[in-house]
This record gives sequence, structure tokens and C-alpha cells, in this order.
Amino acid sequence: MHAVITGGAGFLGSHLADALIARDFKVTVIDNLITGQLRNLSHLEGNPNLTFIQHDVADAFDVEGAVDFIFHFASPASPAEFKRIPVEVLRCGSFATHHGLDLAERKGATFFLASTSEVYGDPIVHPQPETYWGNVNSVGPRACYDEGKRYAEAATVTYRDYRGVQVRIARFFNTYGPRMRMDDGRVVPNFIRQALMGEPLTIYGEGHQTRSFGYYEDILDGVVRLALSDYQDPVNFGTHQEMTMLQFAEAVSEAVGIPCRTVHYPAAEDDPKQRHPDIQRAYEVLGWQPTTSLMEGLRKTVEYYRAELK
Ligand code: UDP
Repeated sequence: MHAVITGGAGFLGSHLADALIARDFKVTVIDNLITGQLRNLSHLEGNPNLTFIQHDVADAFDVEGAVDFIFHFASPASPAEFKRIPVEVLRCGSFATHHGLDLAERKGATFFLASTSEVYGDPIVHPQPETYWGNVNSVGPRACYDEGKRYAEAATVTYRDYRGVQVRIARFFNTYGPRMRMDDGRVVPNFIRQALMGEPLTIYGEGHQTRSFGYYEDILDGVVRLALSDYQDPVNFGTHQEMTMLQFAEAVSEAVGIPCRTVHYPAAEDDPKQRHPDIQRAYEVLGWQPTTSLMEGLRKTVEYYRAELK
């Protein structure tokens, strides 16, 4: 089996490369390193099953030989990046998705889209099932990502329905773990870095907004199951570990082993107030359920950042 992973030097993409190589896949990673990092793949250096191509997948690309899967994982995913490089975010959702779908059509490969809970926007249905259409601001500060991913889903099902391309669509809720860039601005790296450095944890707004955190190993187990299934509609991947950011600050402090100290910053514009996946479909279709507790996942992630800061 040969899999192409766009964004394969990023957090989830590089873990996916590991998971596929462990299953005897040949993997071609295409990444322009705008947010990905080569060091996420450095342990695979010299491995004949990995090929790395530095390229922006929003520009046309081709891959030699037979291809069985194209995993489109390329995209900045942190709200801080939506402000810094919004056009690049848009191009990942739009042009890059088309290039991946076109490649899938040419090669007869399965196209796997890494989508997101952001397609639900600031949801008014809880928990969010795949059948919920969402509540998205198309002209707000998160629009480049939310609407980019919604466009990517629309493109994916259009190629499925009108071009006969095999597709998979995974909607990831907040996923965390080692290899998230420490400075990417998201709450997990921010809180862990701040706790390790003895700084107060920065809560945006009141801290009553909720997220449900999933450990990358569980989420990738779902990715592999979905890829190898024949299910062509969207599937949520996340956990029922929903908590407020105030509670999450407590949990991170406990995982680091320090008393919790927080400081409040202004609320982020259009910040979803509540996010919690309905994961029944993943269970019914794939037999998938997350198994890692928040404290277990956080402790492993803290160890990674501790080593990074040395
Ligand atoms: N957040 C926070 N402090 C931080 C970073 C983020 O309170 O230092 C909040 C943010 O406002 C949001 C939640 O944490 O409500 C998750 O933010 P993140 O950037 O990780 O991703 P999102 O789920 O919003 O895409």
C-alpha cells in the first residue's frame, strides 16, 4: 500500500505517517513546512518506506507510481494561525483539496479528508452529531478555516458523487499530544508551556467555554479504522471529556504538578462557547471508542514538552 500524506510533517500528519509505516505502508509526505516541522519525521530518516517532498499542496502536484490513499491533513489548525496566515489556510481548504481529489481520481486512490469540529461553528445543538449543519459566521475571524473546511467537505462529497472517487471524511474535535508546536497558540501547548515555566495560565474570557479533548493515539486509531472501512459519510472523532477552560487549567496544573494560577485575557472573537461531539456513529460504523483518560494523555504530553524545554 502506498499512502500520500499532505501535511505529513505536522502534529497529526506525522503521527499518521508513523502509524501507517508500522502497518507496512509506503508513505510519501508532502509538506511546505509552514507550520509542520521536519523534526517530527527525523526518527524516520533513512527509512526506505518514507519519502519526503517539500511542496505547497495548494500548488499543483503529482506523485509517481501507484497510490492507494491520499490523506489530506495539510492545514494550519490553530486560531492564532488563522490571523497570521489566513490566505494559506484558505488555500489548504480549497486548492489543496482539489489537487488531492484530482490525484485520487487519476490514481484510483481513496481520498481521506481531515475535517474538523469547526464545520459546526459556534454550535447551538449539543452534543454535535454529524447530521447537524452548524452555526458558522462566514465573514468572521475563523471563516478562513471553518468555511475552508466546509468547502473541502463539499468538494469531497461532490467528487464522491459525480466523479466516482472513494472518500473518507473525519471531523476531528480538539486533538492533542506530543508534537503540537509549543508556540502554535492553542490552549493545550499554551497551558502546558505556561505551567512548566511557572507562569499563570492565560484564560481567554471568563473561561466558561467548553472543549472536549481527545488524545492523538485514540484519534489515529479511528483514522486507520475509517480509512480501511468503506464508509463515505463524515465521522466525528473526539471524546466525552468536555470541560470548561477553567477546569482544563486545573487539569493541566495537576498533570504538571503545580498549584493552578490563572490570568484572564479578553475573550477571542467568535470563540465557540460549547463543543462536545456525538461519537455514536464512529462506534456503530467502526467499533471505535476513545480509551485514554485526560490525565493519562496530559501526563504524556507534559513529558514531551518538559523535554522540549530542556
Ligand atoms: N484558550 C484560552 N487560553 C489560551 C488559548 C486558548 O483560554 O491560551 C481558549 C480559547 O479561547 C478556546 C479554547 O481555549 O475557547 C480552545 O482554544 P484553541 O485555540 O486550542 O482551539 P479551538 O478549539 O478554539 O479551535
